[in-house]
Order: sequence, then C-alpha cells, then structure tokens
Amino acid sequence: MRKKSVKEVSLAGKRVWTRVDFNVPVKDGVVTDATRIEAALSTIRYIVEQGGKVILASHFGRPKGERRDDMSLAPVAPLLSQLLGQPVAFAPDCIGAEVDSMIAAMKNGDVVLLENTRFHKGEEKNDPTLSQQFAAQCDVYVNDAFGAAHRAHSSTAGICDYVQEKVCGFLMEQEIEYLGAKIAAADRPFVAILGGAKVSDKIPVIENLIPKVDAILIGGAMAYTFLAAQGVSTGKSMVEEDKKDLALQLLAKATAAGVTIGLPIDHVVGREFSEVTEKKMTADRTIGEGWMGLDIGPQTIKHYERLIGDAKTVLWNGPMGVFEWKSFSEGTYAVAHAMAANTQAITIVGGGDSVSAVNKSGTAAQMSHISTGGGASLELLEGKILPGVDCLNDK
Ligand code: ADP
Ligand code: MG
Repeated sequence: MRKKSVKEVSLAGKRVWTRVDFNVPVKDGVVTDATRIEAALSTIRYIVEQGGKVILASHFGRPKGERRDDMSLAPVAPLLSQLLGQPVAFAPDCIGAEVDSMIAAMKNGDVVLLENTRFHKGEEKNDPTLSQQFAAQCDVYVNDAFGAAHRAHSSTAGICDYVQEKVCGFLMEQEIEYLGAKIAAADRPFVAILGGAKVSDKIPVIENLIPKVDAILIGGAMAYTFLAAQGVSTGKSMVEEDKKDLALQLLAKATAAGVTIGLPIDHVVGREFSEVTEKKMTADRTIGEGWMGLDIGPQTIKHYERLIGDAKTVLWNGPMGVFEWKSFSEGTYAVAHAMAANTQAITIVGGGDSVSAVNKSGTAAQMSHISTGGGASLELLEGKILPGVDCLNDK
C-alpha cells in the first residue's frame, strides 16, 4: 500500500510536526557530517514554501531518558539555519509550556527545532502520554526520519494514534519507493550483491530476496561461511561455523527458485587481519592454511562486473572486502564502478558501510538511490513492515 505524501495535504497555516533524523555526528559542539540534515532539506523547504509552520523533532544519541548536554540538538540549529537561509529557533525541550508558547508565536513559514526527543523516557517506550503531548503540538504529522522508521517510538509511531493527517516526507517516500516497491516489482534481470561482515546479519535479507531476484552475488566475509559449508578450504578466514548448515539451506532454496548464486572463484588473502599484512591472490577458490580472505579476487570481479553490467536492477548491501584498507578495497570499488557504469539499470545501495564505500569511490551521483538508513533499510530489505511507515495514511 502506498503512503500519502506531504504533497497531498494542505499545509498553509498548519502546525506541521515533522520527524526528521538529525542524529548526526557531532564533535566539540560542531556537526562533522551534515548528510542527514541535507537529506531532510527538500521536505522542510517544501513545507516552508507552502506556508506551514515547521516544527522539527528528532532523537540524538542514546541519552536514555535523561537530559544530557552532550546530546543536545542545539549544534544543529545554526547549521540548519545556514542551509535553509532562514532563522531556526531552538526550543529548550520537546514538550512543555515554553515549547507551547514558542509554537503559539510561530508565523507561517517559520521553523522551530525541538530538543532531543530521547530526553524523555516515554519516547523509546512509545508512551501514549508523550505521544499525546506531541500530537497536541501538531495539525499535520510528517515523517521524514527514514533512519528511525524501524523503531516504534512516540515521535515515530505513537503520535499517529492521535493525529488525523499523517504523511511521509520526500526522503521517506523515496526510500520506501526504492527499497520497497522497486525491489518488489523490479525490472529483470535483478541482481543483488551481498557482502559485509557476517552471514547472520544478512540471512533474512537473502531469504526475502530469493523469490525476487535472478542472481545473488556474494562477497565479503560472509562468502567464506558459504564456501566452508561447501567443503572448500578457507584457511584463517572469518567463518561462522554455526551458520554453515543454514548457508547450505539458503543455497538449496536459491537453486530451487532458479536463482544464480555467485560465490568468489578467487580471493585476495592476507597473513593477518591487518592493513599492512603480506598479501597475495589465490589461483582459485581455495584458501591455503595460514591465509585469510580479505577481498574478492580479479576473476571474481570480472564475473560480477559482467552480471552487474547485464542487469536492469542492481541492489547492493555489504562490502566485498575490508575496503577500509586500500590493499583490500578493489573488489568493493569495482562493484561501485560497475553499478555506476550501468546507466540502463536502477541501482540501489543500502547499508552504512556500503554507502560510505560508494561515497569514497566517487560514484554516488551515478546511483539511482543511496539509502540514508542503516537498520531501517536492512529491515525493509528483509521484507519487514516499518512501524514508522505503517502508521501513516494510505494513499
Ligand atoms: P553494511 O554496513 O554496508 O551493511 P556490514 O556492516 O554488513 O555492511 O559489513 C561491513 C564490514 O564488513 C566492513 O567493515 C568490512 O571491513 C567488513 N568485511 C568485509 N569483508 C571482510 C572480510 N573478508 N573479512 C573481514 N571483514 C570483512
Ligand atoms: Mg555496517
């Protein structure tokens, strides 16, 4: 079911309570990466243009229901003001008399940023009293906090029990369009590339994707669990012994569904888990005693590049190797470049580390969609319904 968009409600003169994800990295009172703030700008600007009164709410860090100076959203207000080109008033709390009077004094097009919602214990408990207090501040609820949509908290879900008009912002709309709709009814061939540290993290994603894709290309540490399960020697590579049976079951399910599973046919291996360790390429998929797999090898890269190049939809979650280290980053960057080069395909990237790899590779602008959510995008890829989306009005 498609969710109603902020474009489909009237906003002029309304108090538009907008849940954003401003959980940004801050060092010494200065925001060090504004990506999440920038991602919310188009929704905020739209509400301003429509003459709505923008009340912004977000969590920040994990203060566990206590007021903590080091987890105040105060550093965000001046930066947001600069990005928007208009004043942003900062409220000392997210509920209470002072906030109420600030909101009452707002004119159309004004922007107020509320203090961290997690300063109140009720937030993470999805407490109805707090939800009602939030709802009392708003005429229209907009959820644009995709990164927090997998949590049922007062500001992401509970508030919707007490508000009539509840819609998604542009960022949220785009995230659910790409990670939900475009994957559920993908143009074929649909190739998913999965990597990262652990098979156990990605099992539900693999299970959800098997009925939808034509091929799953596996890399990263999780490849070694699959190879070990097939009886291939994997040396000192990271293998989840207790997941080997499950890996075989997944392979069988994929085969039964006619899905091609790509596993590395060669590797870049190192002596130790270290950036400066002695390294070499393997001749085939076996890894010798005393070596550990830290990246996919050149033959595997070629194979994966070909499949990515022929696809109409490509979804990527999880690096192919320890890309943080230059000597083991080639496989990961090759995937990024192959996706970027396929201009005919819908290309979607999800997962914190994969997104950072795409950004570092300089291919971000060529991707159709780069998800801003870590946990939330993974849960969508697992086929779960996100509470912060579920509670919004249907189209
Ligand atoms: P994402 O955040 O994109 O979902 P993950 O968190 O699942 O990705 O995995 C990313 C991590 O996996 C990276 O820190 C990377 O170094 C690690 N990784 C990838 N390949 C290997 C490997 N062969 N051995 C050890 N760690 C690996
Ligand atoms: Mg990660």
